[in-house]
Amino acid sequence: MLNQYFTDLHIHVGMSQAGKWIKIPTSRRLTVCGILDEAVERKGMDIIGIIDALSPLVLGDLRALVDQGLLVPVSSGGYLYRDHLLVVLGAEIETKETNGGLAHTLVFLPDIETMTTFSNYMSQFIRNITLSSQNAHMPLKQLIQIASGFDALIIPAHVFTPHKSLYGVCCNRISHVLSDQDMGKLAAIELGLSADSSLADQISELTDFTFLSNSDAHSLDKIAREYNVFSLNTLSFEEIAKALSRKDNRQVIANYGLDPRLGKYHRTFCQECGFTPDTEDVPASKCPQCNSNTLTKGVWERITEIADHAKPHHPLHRPQYFYQIPLEFIPGIGKKVMTKLLAEFKTEMNIIHYATYETLSHIAGNKIADYIMKARTGTAAISAGGGGIYGRIKI
Ligand SMILES: [Zn+2]
Ligand SMILES: [Zn+2]
Repeated sequence: MLNQYFTDLHIHVGMSQAGKWIKIPTSRRLTVCGILDEAVERKGMDIIGIIDALSPLVLGDLRALVDQGLLVPVSSGGYLYRDHLLVVLGAEIETKETNGGLAHTLVFLPDIETMTTFSNYMSQFIRNITLSSQNAHMPLKQLIQIASGFDALIIPAHVFTPHKSLYGVCCNRISHVLSDQDMGKLAAIELGLSADSSLADQISELTDFTFLSNSDAHSLDKIAREYNVFSLNTLSFEEIAKALSRKDNRQVIANYGLDPRLGKYHRTFCQECGFTPDTEDVPASKCPQCNSNTLTKGVWERITEIADHAKPHHPLHRPQYFYQIPLEFIPGIGKKVMTKLLAEFKTEMNIIHYATYETLSHIAGNKIADYIMKARTGTAAISAGGGGIYGRIKI
């Protein structure tokens, strides 16, 4: 019997329990305990990845929770919190290719002991191992060689974003920077904001990979803004590994992400005059409106530039990608309404996926109930984002 689990594998830690920064600038509430409670109580997640577990400060906090019996080790990897949230440990590591391009990669390991050994080993390459997403001063192929020695799940992060990603700044093809053998060691590909399966399936070398849509949350609010549904037999690290390689029927059965047009790097954007194209034309290097050279290339333009299929070619295993409009984007949902909704439905996943129109409109009014239904079915009207500014829902 397989069960379905809401999963967000990319959540950052801002600060240790003792008050030392791990990711600056984030919130002081973004501690390991803060994340666990938010994920269970408010978001309604089943599986989360703590992505700063390379930091000895985070490892110390995790160890303390195990000692207190709050995190219970699962024999095939990962930890259970309050019996029903699986916590997996990950590291986000920056690598540098020969062209100077930087990219982020996620490395997941089954337990605190293995992560501690990995962290000790990586500390010879990373200057400040206590901080998040640090540069390891090596190309990705070297990181893959090291991490695969630890039986890690290795996943290139937010691969299309204009900063610190493989397709963004390192290469037009991953096969240009990795051998076939090294590419075979990647467990999945993380899409990131501003890209969905339809865009990514225009690149043929990605066909066989499972896609992940994770939040990359730098605050408690943003946890589960993007997420996946995993179909697993039980909650464990080993089951996640099986799902990514689609073994024994385990698999990712849905991706939930922002409509790419809502992402803040979707279209090219002029930093000088604010110009964003609203047609399918890719602007040249100069802004067509003010003629300046300050264009930030959008994810859409970048994928169009490097695609080898003009239309998406979805493989049979590709699950549906649902456009999820986060509750925070819905006009009229402020703190007050949110508190009322949570009092009734307990978690955001319940509000987004299961609440009926009748109960929603009774609590929050017809307008908000309409928006939530439209968000659920992906039919809300949207104006595109670009240059670091989020898109908007048209009212
Ligand atoms: Zn990153
Ligand atoms: Zn990140």
